[in-house]
Amino acid sequence: METHAQVVVIGGGVVGCSILYHLAKHGWSDVVLLERNELTSGSSWHAAGVIHTINSDPNIARLQGYTIKLYKELEDLTGQSCGIHRPGGIYLASTPERLDYLRQERAKARYMGLETDFISLEHARELNPLIDPTKYLGALFEPVDGHVDPSGVTHAYAKGARHYGAKVFRECPVIETRPRRDGGWDVVTPRGTLHAEIVVNAAGLWAREVGRLAGIDLPVQPMEHHYLITEAIPEIEAHGREVAVTVDYEGNAYTRQEHQGLLLGTYETNCVPWAVDGTPLDFGHELLQDDLSRVTERLETAFERMPAIGRAGIKKVVNGPFTFGPDGNPLIGPVPGLKNYWTAVGVMAGFCQGGGVGLCMAEWMIEGEPSVDVWGMDIARFGEFATRDWGRIKSAENYSRRFILTYPNETLPAGRRQKTTALYDRLAAKGAVMGVSHGLEHALWFAPSPAEAQETPTFRRSNAFPYVADEVRAVREAVGMIEIANYAKHQVKGPGAEAFLDRVLANRLPKVGRLTLTPMLTAKGKLYGDLTVARLDAETFWLFGSGAAQNMHRCWFERHLPQTGVIYNNTSDALHGLAIAGPLSRELLQRVTRGDVSPSGLRFRDIRHMVVGGVPAIVARVSFSGELGYEIYVAPQFQVALYEALSEAGADPALRVYGGRALMSMRLEKNWGVWTLDFRPDFTVAESGLDAYVAFDKPAEFIGREAALAERERGPSKRLVTLVVDTKDVDCVSDEPIFDGRECVGYVTSGGYGHTVGRSLAMGYVPTPLAADGTKLRVELLGEFYDAVVTAQPLYDPDGVRMRN
Ligand SMILES: Cc1cc2nc3c(=O)[nH]c(=O)nc-3n(C[C@H](O)[C@H](O)[C@H](O)COP(=O)(O)OP(=O)(O)OC[C@H]3O[C@@H](n4cnc5c(N)ncnc54)[C@H](O)[C@@H]3O)c2cc1C
Repeated sequence: METHAQVVVIGGGVVGCSILYHLAKHGWSDVVLLERNELTSGSSWHAAGVIHTINSDPNIARLQGYTIKLYKELEDLTGQSCGIHRPGGIYLASTPERLDYLRQERAKARYMGLETDFISLEHARELNPLIDPTKYLGALFEPVDGHVDPSGVTHAYAKGARHYGAKVFRECPVIETRPRRDGGWDVVTPRGTLHAEIVVNAAGLWAREVGRLAGIDLPVQPMEHHYLITEAIPEIEAHGREVAVTVDYEGNAYTRQEHQGLLLGTYETNCVPWAVDGTPLDFGHELLQDDLSRVTERLETAFERMPAIGRAGIKKVVNGPFTFGPDGNPLIGPVPGLKNYWTAVGVMAGFCQGGGVGLCMAEWMIEGEPSVDVWGMDIARFGEFATRDWGRIKSAENYSRRFILTYPNETLPAGRRQKTTALYDRLAAKGAVMGVSHGLEHALWFAPSPAEAQETPTFRRSNAFPYVADEVRAVREAVGMIEIANYAKHQVKGPGAEAFLDRVLANRLPKVGRLTLTPMLTAKGKLYGDLTVARLDAETFWLFGSGAAQNMHRCWFERHLPQTGVIYNNTSDALHGLAIAGPLSRELLQRVTRGDVSPSGLRFRDIRHMVVGGVPAIVARVSFSGELGYEIYVAPQFQVALYEALSEAGADPALRVYGGRALMSMRLEKNWGVWTLDFRPDFTVAESGLDAYVAFDKPAEFIGREAALAERERGPSKRLVTLVVDTKDVDCVSDEPIFDGRECVGYVTSGGYGHTVGRSLAMGYVPTPLAADGTKLRVELLGEFYDAVVTAQPLYDPDGVRMRN
């Protein structure tokens, strides 16, 4: 066996083999896959093999589309059959809410260029003669759906990888992974030790065990999953062509044809996590004991809706385990804090997603960034809070909700209060409805009392609407206070800090005591961060940004950190704090500090150490609300004291606590985008408009400068705009298509209601010629078309007078 490889992939399931294939295809042929047994010895061999593109994350949906197309290419290259069947897929709705969901999916498909569309229920019955159309309200048809042969696909990837020079070693279990001084890894097997420059954990059912060899606990959990195969069904025999793959959401069942019978799978709500304490090392090509009592209720519903199944005998029942992640999406990419260690684990739909995962992993390693934003799959979206126990709870929740609708305003109940601040109980007692960001609970909005602190899940405006309006009014007219513990805070210090930040950030660095906005770019000029950089002294900088993306940014900083001279720390949990905003916020702050907070004493974009409410704080004069405002950061142990001091001093004028929803409404009124929605690596700096914060003329050669300059020369092909949308009782959320006449020209990245300006607003990307002020467009929302007009200037305080006051 080899003694060195550029990359060692651990695990020969569909995911590991796809990664190996893509690495080799993209030019890294010194790559090796180690499989403990035979290929497909995990969950891959007993999969139902169903392939579909639908995913609530459009980029993952795109990658699923890529995976499906790849199978033919793989067959042509390797001669290995992938057993491709593409009879198309039908998605059935039997409630009005599910129909809304399907409308949304269809809308997304429009801008993704997919042919997904509604068909009549009669047409659906022609494609699947087993369904009883009277049970349903609508059917969406996806022509590319079908199924593949799991073993054939896995072997085709392996064969393709070998074709490009990669090597596969079977019967070669990895028993140790040891970090080396040179940044690589010693990968130990009974057949010898391999020096790997990069290790990839693609060990599927054993992802947790392999992770532990490197000292990490992965929050993934294998779940038991049943499907059954029926005897021949006369209606299928008589059909004359293959029956379409069918998903009946409310029936909680998916089906596909298997010979002249049907394969029917279900995601039981009383689900069973498997091998909670660890996957047995000797588990292989065996199945689990089936337990039809767990799925009986589901089967009865399926028999009602597809009566022919009920008449058919059951030929075989399969109960096999496969691994889920906490939110149902894979965990891929470099592991934060671990050098040259990557994962591709928790891939619960390996035959839909394996190709896309392999592609992104290869691009990311070889080119330094994937070609699409993989945030929805990035392992960095989880952090320390995502322990194995939490992972088990969330993965089980996700499994059981696979066919249950999650609304855009809904936060899921399992694994809550994993991470809280000292104010949690106080805010809850005030009626806070909590959301979660990077594991941390934070207030979304405040109901009049704790008893009313519940939000109706809906695609439309919820019961929160009037209360959020009140919170916005309080901030705009007087003063409001919001907890900001959930912002990311990165500390960079040392003699080399300035030079380091000058290279990773695109804007000029601020002077001591000042802060500035800055984009962070990839080498290809795409956005990788939208941060506020503050300088506390010559060698100490703080970077404030998206709390959700704190680990993603941590990875980026660590990757570019020089050997010496700079100390980087993700200090997000070491600094909590409160922000106050509104015309009376200066007066309030002055009541709780001896420091000079007059307009000239603490200017717009000043930052400094101060004592506030009797506790040490860092105060920054900025506010994402667009009002005069201050962010006051304190160590967590001072959070209660600060809160009490501000509350007491704010009793007159009436200080109102507010939540994230009001903040989002106010930033929309200012045309300000947010990270993970409007700003993300799918877009370049010029497209986003953040090029206004790029110092092209600064001496430092910052990352992405060349690409950003080239784009400035030729001009971006699309632009982020704000739209005023003419709706009455519904607002955009994200991913709604934008039309110019009948042509789909772009999509919404975020939306909501501007409570001060009294208009429904949305942000989204459209071709540059359509980005001019006043351009008339249309937006499709839940199947209806609404007029929308581009507003180049914010509807609220366009000159920014209020925040500079
Ligand atoms: C009943 C059932 C139905 C399913 N239906 C579908 C479907 O219709 N469509 C779909 O897309 N997906 C389906 N899936 C899910 C699909 O099977 C998984 O997403 C996929 O198999 C995951 O592949 P993987 O490569 O990540 O993991 P695995 O297939 O588990 O592969 C991991 C590999 O790593 C090896 N390994 C582990 N530890 C080591 C070590 N220490 N050293 C070396 N090698 C090691 C194992 O032997 C194994 O071969 C289904 C799963 C089940 C159980």
